[in-house]
Amino acid sequence: MTEIPKDHPRYESLLAREKVAAGVKMGITSIQGLIAQGRGESFDYLLGERSTKSALYAERAAVAALILANNPVISVNGNVAALSPDKVVALADVTGAKLEVNLFHRTETRVHLIIEQLKANGAYEVLGKNPDAALELSHDRRLVESRGIYSADVVLVPLEDGDRCEKLVEMGKTVITIDLNPLSRTSKTATISIVDNLTRALDNMIKLGVELKKEKKEELVKLITTYDNKRALSEAISEIQEHLRAMAAEAEY
Ligand code: ATP
Repeated sequence: MTEIPKDHPRYESLLAREKVAAGVKMGITSIQGLIAQGRGESFDYLLGERSTKSALYAERAAVAALILANNPVISVNGNVAALSPDKVVALADVTGAKLEVNLFHRTETRVHLIIEQLKANGAYEVLGKNPDAALELSHDRRLVESRGIYSADVVLVPLEDGDRCEKLVEMGKTVITIDLNPLSRTSKTATISIVDNLTRALDNMIKLGVELKKEKKEELVKLITTYDNKRALSEAISEIQEHLRAMAAEAEY
């Protein structure tokens, strides 16, 4: 990995790029993962590279849903494993969620490497190696474990593809996504769409997990029942517009 100086104005973004590239070299991330990262980065620019008010609103509801779930599962793909293996493990710990590897470009080697990566970051058990159930999809993301994603009532699917998100929602699950693109099919289909950078979202959600675990059940239920995903998505688009207007005003001087 190229050493990025900490005082570089684009330190976080360059570091993330290096991590995904290193993930490809290690065989954890697919080459297509580089394109997904690039698309995410461009939306992050438009958002102003910050966790917006609407993102925090969605993150709070998402953490409440994970804490209250009977069988919460966090789905991990190659980009997530390269960017934030420590953070997904920490979020699983704080919310009591299981971890399951699920890949579009699935190979047994890649599944094994991702499981090892998560275990090296403190995970005790990681599902995904022995899929014994299938979603009604024609690609490899259909392969799931019956005690994991298949039977989950709440699933966090960061950096998801629209197809599987739609399928999981159709199955009656509460589907939480993290996707910087508020216009993606994934964001439009999910139950709780978090429009934020993966690493920022996970940091926020770990902190919220510690805080919300101390709350009464009724308070958590209220956070979920009063949550309005259409409002959150529409606000995310408005936040992009506001940021662009501010940038346009700045460019005039
Ligand atoms: P869809 O099928 O949902 O319309 P897509 O074809 O763009 O979307 P993918 O390429 O599978 O779907 O998903 C990648 C998505 O993840 C992109 O929308 C991208 O914006 C988002 N993304 C990539 N990297 C990050 C990141 N680090 N944090 C948050 N979102 C990210």
